[in-house]
Amino acid sequence: MLDQALGILKDVFGYDAFRGNQAAIIERVASGGDALVLMPTGGGKSLCYQVPALLRDGLAVVVSPLIALMEDQVATLDELGVAAVALNSTLGADEQRDIAARIRRGEIKLLYLAPERLVQPRMLAFLEQLPLALFAIDEAHCVSQWGHDFRPEYLQLGQLAETFPQVPRLALTATADKRTREEIVQRLHLEDAERFLSSFDRPNIFYRIVPKEQPRKQLLGFLAERRGDAGIVYCMSRKKVDDVAAFLSEQGFPALPYHAGLPAELRAHHQRRFLNEEGLIMVATIAFGMGIDKPNVRFVAHLDLPKSLEAYYQETGRAGRDGLPADAWMAYGLQDVIFLKQMLSQSEGDERHKRVEQHKLDAMLALCEETRCRRQTLLAYFDEVLPEPCGHCDNCVDGVQTWDATEPARQALSAIYRSGQRYGVGHLVDILLGRDNEKIRAPGHQRLALFGVGKHLSEAEWRSLFRQLVARGLADVDLEGFGGLRLSEHCRPLLRGEVTLELRRDLKPQQARSGGKSPASQLVRGEERQTWEALRTLRRKLAEEHSVPPYVIFPDATLLEMLRSQPRSLADLAGVSGVGARKLERYGAAFLEVLNGQEPAEAPRQATDLRHELISLARAGMTPTQIASQLSCSEKNVYTLLADAIGSQQLSLDQALDLPDELLMEVQDAFLDGEGELPPVAAIAERFGTRVPEGVLHCVRAALRAELET
Ligand code: ADP
Ligand code: ZN
Repeated sequence: MLDQALGILKDVFGYDAFRGNQAAIIERVASGGDALVLMPTGGGKSLCYQVPALLRDGLAVVVSPLIALMEDQVATLDELGVAAVALNSTLGADEQRDIAARIRRGEIKLLYLAPERLVQPRMLAFLEQLPLALFAIDEAHCVSQWGHDFRPEYLQLGQLAETFPQVPRLALTATADKRTREEIVQRLHLEDAERFLSSFDRPNIFYRIVPKEQPRKQLLGFLAERRGDAGIVYCMSRKKVDDVAAFLSEQGFPALPYHAGLPAELRAHHQRRFLNEEGLIMVATIAFGMGIDKPNVRFVAHLDLPKSLEAYYQETGRAGRDGLPADAWMAYGLQDVIFLKQMLSQSEGDERHKRVEQHKLDAMLALCEETRCRRQTLLAYFDEVLPEPCGHCDNCVDGVQTWDATEPARQALSAIYRSGQRYGVGHLVDILLGRDNEKIRAPGHQRLALFGVGKHLSEAEWRSLFRQLVARGLADVDLEGFGGLRLSEHCRPLLRGEVTLELRRDLKPQQARSGGKSPASQLVRGEERQTWEALRTLRRKLAEEHSVPPYVIFPDATLLEMLRSQPRSLADLAGVSGVGARKLERYGAAFLEVLNGQEPAEAPRQATDLRHELISLARAGMTPTQIASQLSCSEKNVYTLLADAIGSQQLSLDQALDLPDELLMEVQDAFLDGEGELPPVAAIAERFGTRVPEGVLHCVRAALRAELET
């Protein structure tokens, strides 16, 4: 079975090998078993049900929560030559009837449905009459009431187990935590499902978290290296989203806002543009996310701190689904901490719930202040052990300096205490630095013993220290919302001198070793730019013609491999990962033209190569004129070779020429008029003059001869 699966992988999808657990999952489902698949975003979940759908008889039913997701998948399958449809509320009654009829006739392999539609009695009755290959439940975590993507309709999917006991079911999710996993098993009745757990590491994402100083300027610095890349910038508030989007546009970065306050139509429009165009930046609140399957999002930037590591992982995870280098970048500062802590204390809900949320925020803050590998910390939170530092995050690359902050921390805590536990960081820093101003004099703080004891540190260093005290829970934020600091219980041991404190030394942004530049921005090197852009332009053009997003034509990874491996022929191109039979046929010639058009003169080719290639090009639908320019030889030559290929039946006349039927019959009649042997071309050429090139006559003759001889 695995051979068959590999055959499909190669022919239909154009890939050479399965990744991770894919092969095992496919084997399990194709042989009729249930499966629970936990795989990170970009891990390749779709193939886990698409390949079994093609291996098994009958219709595969795929449950998906969002229309956009379904349409994307259907378009992708369509381009691969796989019959798939999505039934959704946007279809008219006629269209729905038509689809139902095609399904009954067995013409459709995959049916995508929203959960509420699947569980309608009429739909279930319809499916019960059909041979079914499998049920795939995508985004299965939507069944969990704990998660923020909970969809009540998913709960009803539990009944599939009873109604269709013979049909294998697989549930798929990118949500890692154990509780969600158990809930999926229980609610979907997947007790007998084999569990396939992948690592949740996203090795292609580079993580960087910088102290927030001038966030917009810092963001521009980050973006400067990434012109032309698509990405998402997350902000906390709607207003900030609007402001930042406007600011980026002014600065020459095409950016669109997205938040729940915009009219639904505009939101949908922006989302479509983001998917269909290249190099757009979406500035968004967390309302933007689920259902964004765009694989070539090159970066996710956070201008505000997410509430938890779950949220951070999920949001940053939208970068680099295609497996190519991508960046997760965040600017984080004391104000973020203060803001989130206050939100938390003012939020509704019982104490237990608040404690859980507090715990989650603390884990997020710990990642920000982490002095060791970020990836190790992040994965550890999801109970995964990464044995070695990753070498692919800011801390690993830049190295983090720590310093003994025990004494200054005590001074800072004393400043909080002596000034009455109600002043913000600005005021506290003024005290420590001994700044004699109005605000200090009013409460008489210039007389504190601490006044001016901290001149050995800079303002930035003090601010960094206060931020870390709050992040570590050694100081608290006031509940009134003015940003005043208080002591927390946890600071006692430090004040009593029982413990010491090591803190992170913040790097100045320009000190970061790679200058804020990471591998993602170097995806395409200077000299390759031109060809790269030409390939993208062609892809965009084809995408528009087919009304699909560009990545549905070919993913970036495939374009990149074309760029690097320099295929000269369709045969070469077929070897590029992501080029399956259907796409080779549809688009191969056009991409070759771009690739070879940029090339200097080629070495002379062997005659057999030329012929082999000519046949491929003709089969792919190129006209003799196009072939001649593609192969840089004369048209006459092309016709001779075509006639040869037709004569040896490697090519049909239809494939070689696009001749109107009437004209073709006229030519055929001319050859067949006489008795016995077919006349030579020269004998009838005069009759057609310039109307029909001689080469065409040669081809028709070759076809007739082949026909008469067999
Ligand atoms: P997920 O749904 O898990 O986020 P997808 O199914 O969208 O991931 O796959 C992510 C990308 O990886 C897609 O572009 C897909 O075509 C590609 N991909 C999946 N499996 C393979 C494979 N075995 N070889 C090469 N590319 C693959
Ligand atoms: Zn690391």
